[in-house]
Amino acid sequence: MNHIADSVSSKLPDVGTTIFAIMTAMAQKHGADNLAQGFPEFDPDPWLRKRVAHYIEHGANQYAPMPGTEQLRKAIQSKTLDYYGIDVNKDTEITITSGATEALFAAIQSVTKQGDEVIVFDPAYDCYDPAIRLSGGTAIHIPLNPDNFGINWQALEQSFNERTRLIIINSPHNPTGAILTSEDLNRLAKLIKDSNCLLISDEVYEHIIFDGQKHASVLRHADLRARSFVISSFGKTYHMTGWKIGYCIAPEYLSNELRKLHQFLTFSTSTPMQLAIADMMIEKPDYPRELASMYQAKRDCFVEGLSESRLKVVPCHGTYFQLLDYSAVSDLDDMAFTRWLTEEHKVATIPISPFCVPAIPEYRYIRCCFAKSEETLRSVAERLSKL
Ligand code: PMP
Ligand code: GLN
Repeated sequence: MNHIADSVSSKLPDVGTTIFAIMTAMAQKHGADNLAQGFPEFDPDPWLRKRVAHYIEHGANQYAPMPGTEQLRKAIQSKTLDYYGIDVNKDTEITITSGATEALFAAIQSVTKQGDEVIVFDPAYDCYDPAIRLSGGTAIHIPLNPDNFGINWQALEQSFNERTRLIIINSPHNPTGAILTSEDLNRLAKLIKDSNCLLISDEVYEHIIFDGQKHASVLRHADLRARSFVISSFGKTYHMTGWKIGYCIAPEYLSNELRKLHQFLTFSTSTPMQLAIADMMIEKPDYPRELASMYQAKRDCFVEGLSESRLKVVPCHGTYFQLLDYSAVSDLDDMAFTRWLTEEHKVATIPISPFCVPAIPEYRYIRCCFAKSEETLRSVAERLSKL
């Protein structure tokens, strides 16, 4: 048997289990509050849950159409018009996927070949790099500015060349909570204008943006939209990360390529969930508009609880993640610090080094998910304040 095992040379030899799975398992083992993996502590709207049950009871249990149900694509078309003033074609430009993760994988695979370079900004969400490498492309990691986690334009301009097939951006940004502005998008558009470079815009936290700021969606930028996969996830918007439903909006020539991958990755995405979400979007079109104030109150509650703490709060403009600088508390590296915090103080968080290639040794950050009840946030902040 061993010679068979020996014959398998891993396609991703340096990849282990994701930090999200590791930290959630550690939280469970030690009975810690799980502010690590990003998921809400609360359930989706009862109305939405009832619609899923309704569709399961009433025969919507077989394969959905490959690109997604007509109803959900239509609802996304209306939402995109309502929120961004853009009319996308539901038949040729919208594809429903099994989470944003599937859309990201399919988008990367569909356009990246051997010899291509794909630029990502570190810290970068962890599923980008392996997908790039599996495609035969090379991931070029550019660190975000250490002071504000904005794009380092000089480094980007230096790395950008005729081999750059794709740039991946993510705003609001996981794990830092930074956001891109429309000026950033203009600058990016100017940089890639005369090239064939494509863009993936990971906008899964599009509705979770704070202090009255507006999400600068690539959908609003005509030049960028014409060469972009824009990816969203219902998990973040409707508090059901476990349903794994996302979508991609891209011009027809890119959607066609993405669908070639999607049809052989999963073929299609859960039917009753798609139908229920479509109903929810039509019944409660303003639901996503309420997310920002709901999460802002949670962010503020958590930050207020940390006002006496030696942990330094990094400004969070969006997402449901608060980055904390622990350099005044400990010299441990972030992997060791998060383990210690989970075991000794029953608070599980996420280290940042798994999002950086190579790791940035001077970073002393942990990421805390504040999609929790105020009771949990106060109790965790109290423990963190004693460090
Ligand atoms: N991109 C980012 C930035 C994320 O944080 C996540 C997960 N929260 C995803 C993509 C994947 O989303 P999904 O759970 O819908 O696959
Ligand atoms: N996106 C979530 C986070 O950032 C986790 C997703 C996952 O567990 N793969 O925490």
